[in-house]
Amino acid sequence: MFRGKKREEPVKEEVFDVDEEHGAVTRKIDGSRVMMMGSHGWASIEKELETTFITGAAVIMQRVGYSYGRAMGRAARSQGIAPEQTFEQMQALARESGWGLFTLSSGDLYGGVARISVRDCYFCLHARESTGGVCFVLAGLVGGISDEIIGATHRVTEEKCIAKGDAVCEILVERVG
Ligand SMILES: [Zn+2]
Repeated sequence: MFRGKKREEPVKEEVFDVDEEHGAVTRKIDGSRVMMMGSHGWASIEKELETTFITGAAVIMQRVGYSYGRAMGRAARSQGIAPEQTFEQMQALARESGWGLFTLSSGDLYGGVARISVRDCYFCLHARESTGGVCFVLAGLVGGISDEIIGATHRVTEEKCIAKGDAVCEILVERVG
């Protein structure tokens, strides 16, 4: 009902182009096609994986995040993002993708050890009262982007998670090779 109404404030530059006529959403910066995924739908996918694969679900979800992160890292490298800019690139991707707000709470990603804190994490939005961290996809994404842009292997551990009562989710990233 607000369509066509003139906005009074200048709008922030849009990240995506939504073409409702063709059912296509593209990322403006590189023209790549994206798909929106609602958080309730995502939460039910995770629940289904846990029911089907029990403890294997964590590995599957981490690999899902990891391969997606590698692909995003490759795209960033092809746009000339330098290894020194890995954290800034990851933070920008998280902002535009809706994963949450990434900040560096300690260390230096390019230096080899860092803790990345995530406020308003998408991946555990509907998971509560968990006994451990549940953001396996988030950890995988961080690992995949780091591995690809820095060109080394990293170990990722979710040390804090909103789902287990922490104020933020926090991923420890350590270069291992
Ligand atoms: Zn979490």
